[in-house]
Amino acid sequence: MNHVTDNSTDTQDDVITITDLNKWYGDFHVLKDINLQVKKGERIVICGPSGSGKSTMIRCINRLEEFQRGSLVVDGIEMIDDVKNIEAIRRDVGMVFQHFNLFPHLTILENLTLGPIWVQKKPKEEAEAVAMKYLERVKIANQADKYPGQLSGGQQQRVAIARSLCMSPQIMLFDEPTSALDPEMVKEVLDVMIELAEEGMTMLCVTHEMGFAKKVADRVIFMDGGEIVEENTPEPFFSNPQTDRLQLFLSQIL
Ligand code: ADP
Ligand code: MG
Repeated sequence: MNHVTDNSTDTQDDVITITDLNKWYGDFHVLKDINLQVKKGERIVICGPSGSGKSTMIRCINRLEEFQRGSLVVDGIEMIDDVKNIEAIRRDVGMVFQHFNLFPHLTILENLTLGPIWVQKKPKEEAEAVAMKYLERVKIANQADKYPGQLSGGQQQRVAIARSLCMSPQIMLFDEPTSALDPEMVKEVLDVMIELAEEGMTMLCVTHEMGFAKKVADRVIFMDGGEIVEENTPEPFFSNPQTDRLQLFLSQIL
């Protein structure tokens, strides 16, 4: 049984290849012929109006959502209805959500070591050492024994990022990681994301933080009505939008 796709020739460097992806919620066609290739180390920012399918699309990448047509290959693993493949992809792909989804009854340190101990079967001491390393990186090591409810939103989101990193992901997905935060906490989370980007992490970020997009994105993608309407490098994306829909969107958010 070998479902691992041989990515030869032109898609060689791609860590994500989405081809003609279509998804429906009942009768509602939520994703329409999505095509997207992401190379190792690439930083992609996805924006678009509320309801345009951004979350649904990135949730398909680690199979939090299923889809009905098209194909999706992540790190050489084809996304099909095989639990082994889904598990393999989830090992490679970290995800950070708008609402941090930390376990409230576990300490910060326990939140970070849960996956490594129970999923990756790492010894507790090793998992804790790795966790402390990442907590230091997101500048929160001194809060390791606290519970999520004792931390600010910005701190909790940094913990959520550190928790993902503890699983050694190849790809990080962010779904509006700063949109639930008070304005003064946005920067501390973006700074962590910028650092990750500068270290070469492959990232897909749904965000309307256009300063972040300009600073780190290799490409910016605009979705509307379940389609990728426009994509470009940041400079022309913002200064010279090609479609009326993107022009309108930018005029509303900038
Ligand atoms: P975005 O992240 O761009 O705001 P979403 O991907 O969350 O958009 O949603 C796209 C569309 O799909 C929206 O119209 C939303 O109402 C609809 N939708 C999202 N989740 C579901 C669901 N579980 N069942 C039915 N419709 C859904
Ligand atoms: Mg969304």
